[in-house]
Amino acid sequence: MPYFVEVILPLALPKPFTYAITQTEFNYIQPGMRIAVPFGRSKIYTALATGLHQNPPELYEAKEIHQILDEKPIVTEIQLKHWHWIAGYYMCSIGDVYRSAMPSGYILESETIITPVKEYNEIATLTDDEYLIYDALRKQSSIKIQEVSDILNKKTVLPIINKLLSVNAIALQEEIKEKYRPKTTQYIKLQPEYSAPEKLNELLEKLSRSQKQRDAILHYFQLQATTKKPITTKKLAATSGVSSGVIKALVDKNIFESYTLAEDRIQFSESNTAAFTLSTKQLEALNAVEKNFNNHQVTLLHGITSSGKTELYIKLIESYINKVEQVLYLLPEIALTTQLVVRLTAYFGNQVAVFHSKYTNNERIETWQHTLQGSNKAKVIIGARSALFLPFQKLGLIIIDEEHEQTFKQYDPAPRYHARDAAIVLAGYHKAKVLLGSATPSIESYYNATHNKYGYVALTERYGNVMPPEIVLVDLKDKYKRKRMTGHFSDELITAITETLSEGKQVILFQNRRGFSPWVECITCGHVPQCPQCDVSLTYYKYKNQLRCHYCGHNIAKPTHCHECHSPDLSTKGFGTEQIEAELKTLFPDKNAARMDQDTTRGKYSYEKIITAFKNQEVDILVGTQMLAKGLHFDNVHLVGILNADNMLYQPDFRAFERAYQMMVQVAGRAGRKDIRGKVMIQTYNPLHNVIQQVSNSDYNGMYKEQVYERHNFKYPPFYKLVRLTLKHKDYEKLKNAAMWLYNVLSQNLEVPVLGPEEPRISKIRNQYLRTIMIKVPQGTSLPSNKGIISKALQSFEAVAQYRAVRISVNVDPY
Ligand code: ADP
Ligand code: ZN
Ligand code: ZN
Repeated sequence: MPYFVEVILPLALPKPFTYAITQTEFNYIQPGMRIAVPFGRSKIYTALATGLHQNPPELYEAKEIHQILDEKPIVTEIQLKHWHWIAGYYMCSIGDVYRSAMPSGYILESETIITPVKEYNEIATLTDDEYLIYDALRKQSSIKIQEVSDILNKKTVLPIINKLLSVNAIALQEEIKEKYRPKTTQYIKLQPEYSAPEKLNELLEKLSRSQKQRDAILHYFQLQATTKKPITTKKLAATSGVSSGVIKALVDKNIFESYTLAEDRIQFSESNTAAFTLSTKQLEALNAVEKNFNNHQVTLLHGITSSGKTELYIKLIESYINKVEQVLYLLPEIALTTQLVVRLTAYFGNQVAVFHSKYTNNERIETWQHTLQGSNKAKVIIGARSALFLPFQKLGLIIIDEEHEQTFKQYDPAPRYHARDAAIVLAGYHKAKVLLGSATPSIESYYNATHNKYGYVALTERYGNVMPPEIVLVDLKDKYKRKRMTGHFSDELITAITETLSEGKQVILFQNRRGFSPWVECITCGHVPQCPQCDVSLTYYKYKNQLRCHYCGHNIAKPTHCHECHSPDLSTKGFGTEQIEAELKTLFPDKNAARMDQDTTRGKYSYEKIITAFKNQEVDILVGTQMLAKGLHFDNVHLVGILNADNMLYQPDFRAFERAYQMMVQVAGRAGRKDIRGKVMIQTYNPLHNVIQQVSNSDYNGMYKEQVYERHNFKYPPFYKLVRLTLKHKDYEKLKNAAMWLYNVLSQNLEVPVLGPEEPRISKIRNQYLRTIMIKVPQGTSLPSNKGIISKALQSFEAVAQYRAVRISVNVDPY
């Protein structure tokens, strides 16, 4: 009887694949182990075993596997089940989920290796380039394609390689290379016969001819006496001042023995127990959460900003650690992990692990292994959404902080999952509890709480009974009319900043646009420079004297003349964070301003640098985009200014008002977190707008009621589930026809509203035109059966030859 293994490939393929294995392999392989398999012409991929059986595939001849990569499963059964749920719910392939769930270091690369063919001897016929390669292969037994390119100093080397292949001078070999390497450290110790202290003299006499070697030995004994830890070669060399050559000589003489140990890359110091006690309100809330967990898997903690939610989480986490259960703590933004890691390690020490995409591959693999082993080093795992994919052993609790944040939803590429929702499903598989926390819950979660699907606990006081900040509205129309504006600052805001700074307090200024100004306009003819590849205007960056596209990165030097009418009169329109920072330099020349937005936070540690500088009060005023709204903690901030509330209100999106409310309340919450009451100043042209009024009265309920009413009326979540299809193609007409074709098929087959095809607000990105179709599935109608119909329609679409090049992405629960 033949034997087979079922595998998932890291590719967007609709089905798993079957490979042939031997009986021994059949007995060895377990689901969750990685297996290198050939796929396509000559490529080798890292696949994941999901099942074993004896049924040959019907449609193709099963190939043999290349090699087994693991000794034990590195993916658990629950993970596989969860991946299948994600693939089904978010309508993507299981391969997409596999590829995005694993640290890329686990998905090995197939590297093409070139090897020589010994018998080849027609060297005279080779060109210079070909000869160089041939020659390199005589010295090295193999080289990689990349190295060929280095040797020849050329980018295109495939023709040369092909030629060498065709004349049989070289051979190719696909090889899988393990990418993860443990970090190892070299240690040194005395051979057992010398290790007793009384041997010291004997040893020194033996080495009487070498002063340096004697020094090394003396220092070794000294180090050994002062530290209990193993001694590294590096440390010995550093303290004794002898070279590593001297130490090596002692190893060669069999006096020292050198050995290596693998080491964790990420290490936190031991806990120094930052003890604290919960306030009465916090304790009540904690008890209420625990009580809610008795009959709800999910509970929403609605705690105003600075109510001390984090402290409550810490106490809750502790009770799960005591039960020897793992805890996952999800944050919406990598930038927030630093502050939280500091707070959690102060309490839990080395039991905290971190996992997110700015960590290196090796670091991520270590956290993966610790989680899989249920190690003491990964009792609490902090991470952004991808931490959801770790191989938990005994997950007891998931905390989702700032649960309303849209960054929990992955936008691109597939799987387009929502980490909050996927976490709730995962918790279900582990029989774990979920605590959602927010000062401004999402409409969906609050709806679930009011309909008793989730438990609900409110925390309505700031810790230490600090008053919530005073909110002042500034009417921009009036200020401009009465000429009370300097740049984009009203006289009131300038006064408030001046006062705050003179008291030695800090200021946060919020403007939800980056760059100097979002567009440039010709005063003579009205022309606005556009991105040639995208349907957007170019943002002006003054410091770099550049116009830049935020969608594709295209940039040009700022033109001196209008490209249409050659007029030199160009004006900048609107304003972003860069302009505010520049205005501050003029308004407050002797104060330090810093900026936090996507442009200033690209590097691995750049967020941290800005946050630390502000925390240490090296910066007086911090200007930023919505990044500032995400739960950062600064004790000394007294004033928060929102420079223009209006551009948040007028977004063509059913969540615009909800989001504007959340963003303003969250940034406002950064003011007056300690001791004294803070102040928030909101500049707006619409002080009477409902949302602005709701923010200024802290009226979450008012906002919720109004939004739920609108959502119900206009067929949006939570009353309708949305599935959005986005079609893309570089040919406008073809795309238009394709979208119409698909729309017709969908609306004929579905019994729910199908809207579109529509040109989105930004209708072209990177030279690809876009069209969207929106499907609205009402509550109480089967989502799976509707998805089944959608999938069928997509399959028939793919079968239409003329539309084959049109790409479609599916987004379930789009944000
Ligand atoms: P939230 O996350 O709800 O906005 P935090 O958890 O950051 O609020 O708490 C606000 C501030 O109050 C923080 O500086 C925190 O250290 C402090 N704090 C909250 N609860 C306590 C407590 N029980 N003991 C000491 N300090 C606390
Ligand atoms: Zn012009
Ligand atoms: Zn562009």
